[in-house]
Amino acid sequence: MKDAKFIFVTGGVVSSLGKGLVASSIGALLQSHNFKVRIRKLDPYLNIDPGMMSPTQHGEVFVTEDGAETDLDLGHYERFTGIRATKDDNITTGKIYYELLKKERCGDYLGKTVQVIPHVTDLIKSFIFNGTEGLDFVICEIGGTVGDIESQPFLEAIRQIDYKLGKQRVILVHLTLVPYLAAAQELKTKPTQHSVRELNFAGLQPDIILCRSEKEISCNQRGKIANLCNVSLSNVIPAPDVSHIYELPVLYSQYGLGTQILEHFYLTKPKPNLTEWNQIVHSMMHPIQEVTVSIVGKYTEFPDTYKSLIEALSHGAISNGVGVKINWVNSREESESSVNKELIEDKLKNSHAVLVPGGFGDNGIEGKMLAINYARINNIPFFGICLGMQLAVIEFARNVIKFEDVHSEEFYTCRHPIVKLVGNKNANLGGIMRLGAYKCNIRPNSKMAGAYSSAIVSERHRHRYIINLDYKDDLEKNGLICSSMSEDETCIEAVELENHPWFIGVQFHPEFQSKPFSPHPLFISFVKAAVNRI
Ligand code: GLN
Repeated sequence: MKDAKFIFVTGGVVSSLGKGLVASSIGALLQSHNFKVRIRKLDPYLNIDPGMMSPTQHGEVFVTEDGAETDLDLGHYERFTGIRATKDDNITTGKIYYELLKKERCGDYLGKTVQVIPHVTDLIKSFIFNGTEGLDFVICEIGGTVGDIESQPFLEAIRQIDYKLGKQRVILVHLTLVPYLAAAQELKTKPTQHSVRELNFAGLQPDIILCRSEKEISCNQRGKIANLCNVSLSNVIPAPDVSHIYELPVLYSQYGLGTQILEHFYLTKPKPNLTEWNQIVHSMMHPIQEVTVSIVGKYTEFPDTYKSLIEALSHGAISNGVGVKINWVNSREESESSVNKELIEDKLKNSHAVLVPGGFGDNGIEGKMLAINYARINNIPFFGICLGMQLAVIEFARNVIKFEDVHSEEFYTCRHPIVKLVGNKNANLGGIMRLGAYKCNIRPNSKMAGAYSSAIVSERHRHRYIINLDYKDDLEKNGLICSSMSEDETCIEAVELENHPWFIGVQFHPEFQSKPFSPHPLFISFVKAAVNRI
């Protein structure tokens, strides 16, 4: 059995430099050489997972096929490599301590003092090594910034792996910021030197330094970094800003990132074939037309909340040969009461399509329902995802079926709970979440069937509430068709309007499965409907 090689990606100076995209691009480059890769993320925070964090803190929660709530970078990993992430690909300090303390209570460490070294670091190492048989490369992204107190045990675990396996199986890639000082009209290398020193304190010496900078970094400055940070010049690689993330694999390949990694491991390979990536970038840069899609949500000022959604729309656009412009509509404005019909209509009037994404809590739901109402009445393509679907059903029950006092149990106790809790009310928050992939049957001759051309599909879920089956007949009699059901027939997975060009709500999150090379059928179909309105 071959032994996997390990690529550790750390970040220095500031957060949000794009380590996830670097890890993803490295994965894509190695795949282009036909290597088998897996990408993992180690997050230093104390939450067990990001499931209960606010999107304003953490951005999107990416859901894996096997139902783990993970960091949004795992979405990039999947989109860039096409490899499905699993619950074993994201660890947090919280999860490690949780395991550790359970073991301690079971007596696994009987007689010993339980310590960060070796017990915490051992658990980190076993996470890194777990399930790596048969792989060529395991790419591990370390969340946070070097120098943070929280990341120290992770860096120590990497030091131990680096020492034990040696350079023939380990490479350290450090992503850093080289800021431009306008007053001095100069790029500054000092922060990079300091962050490499932080790594050195942890016993780590980077092999490759990737320099994020908004201006082109000169050979001189790269030389300075090489010299002061003990890295060869060819391993100090520029990482300039790009207009689109899918440019990165090609760009990094041009700058020699792939070659330098292979050289480090004494692997010789012919130049990779990146034609597919070039095609993606070309179609993104040269759309023949552009559609405007309004996303009506409550975190519109934090687009990271809707990462996979934005990507899925762009994939749908690529496959239709168009560009997509997103019109962000905040469904709650300064306050719930400041949102009214005229305001929403004004914000939506120039859009070719409207999308209401998933969400939790009652903030902004009336604004979203006004948007749904506008799209329904004016025949504007509408896509409701999870909460977006539930609100579409409530809007329909209110304004078409004319139910009074109809709502979701998530928000109010009412006469017609048309959206109801899955399972038991007393379970812990999070404990009754329907998570991960479930099979859905698609009703023949429906719009859903037209989009998928498949009778059974598997989609990822993240919700606690479902459409109340007691109301299925009322919905269908009035023209809102339940066009997909879960395999066990307990959950309405999709609804669609009979007499509307494109009005679909889905209980699942199709955006998690969309990839640039395999756009999700619903996003292809939705963008196509938007194009029809140009
Ligand atoms: N809050 C809703 C539920 O729990 C919708 C969740 C979502 O949109 N992901 O069912």
